[in-house]
Amino acid sequence: MCLLGIDLGGTTIKAGLVDIKGRLLVKGQVPTGAAEGAGAVLERIATLAGDLARGQGLAMQDIKGAGIGIPGSVEVEKGLVHLAPNLFWRDYPLRAELAARLNLPVAVDNDAHVAALGEMWQGAGQGFNSLLMVTIGTGIGSGLIIDGHIRRGVFGYGAEMGHVKMVREGPQCHCGGRGCLETLASATAMVRRFREYLAAGQSSRLQDGPDLGAREILTAAAAGDELATRVVDFAASYLGMALANAVLLVGPEAIIIGGGPAQAGEVILAPIRKYLAESLGAWQIKPLPVLAARLGNEAGIIGAARLALELLEHRESF
Ligand SMILES: [Zn+2]
Repeated sequence: MCLLGIDLGGTTIKAGLVDIKGRLLVKGQVPTGAAEGAGAVLERIATLAGDLARGQGLAMQDIKGAGIGIPGSVEVEKGLVHLAPNLFWRDYPLRAELAARLNLPVAVDNDAHVAALGEMWQGAGQGFNSLLMVTIGTGIGSGLIIDGHIRRGVFGYGAEMGHVKMVREGPQCHCGGRGCLETLASATAMVRRFREYLAAGQSSRLQDGPDLGAREILTAAAAGDELATRVVDFAASYLGMALANAVLLVGPEAIIIGGGPAQAGEVILAPIRKYLAESLGAWQIKPLPVLAARLGNEAGIIGAARLALELLEHRESF
């Protein structure tokens, strides 16, 4: 018996077969081709799943369920994608459509929630029952797990840390709000701030260019560049403060930082820990682990497979 985990992104569909112990048996990827419409995307998912199964000498009947993480807001109970701008989807009944296409039970959730589940099952979150995972990328995604289960609130978009408000009248966010965490601390925000400093005449060993990204800024900061360090420190200060607020609300056992910038390691993790501790102050009763995610871009596949497993277990209990 195995499970199909699908990580549906705006540009790439990643999928894999995972056994019930959480071991990734095989994985593959194809372009999403979102502009061709939802039907074409689902067709590519089904073809990829069939190819993966055949490669393992399995029939589709050997796959017992599928889970899928998508970049958008999901009404999980109905398997309905409310809004996924990267896929051009609005109010799309993904679970029903994909279940019909794969002939499998399907569980759907937001990709950041799914990644948190994957890290808890097989990654940096192993051994913890309650954790908060924050993924830093173009935006900031987050997933909250309490007592082993994803918590998403009544409307399915709870634990949306990227849009908690940090600065009144702060930078404009694409969500329509101002001063959201992701306008201050995402990879995009780091690059924007660095460019603003350069444009204002501040000097750095790192030069601007079309390929300038958070990775280059973090590398320069690790090498001691003062301006890059200041930019990383600014982002980390808001991440630390936002995490402290979340910790005071929900009290997780551990925090996991994912996304490209987290792979830079201590250059960003250390200041996040510093500002988290500073913001918690006397409320830091015992040390709270702040760990880098371990699964990289396999977290979405493994977490989605776990979502499928939970769906099957839930069904059996009725
Ligand atoms: Zn926002």
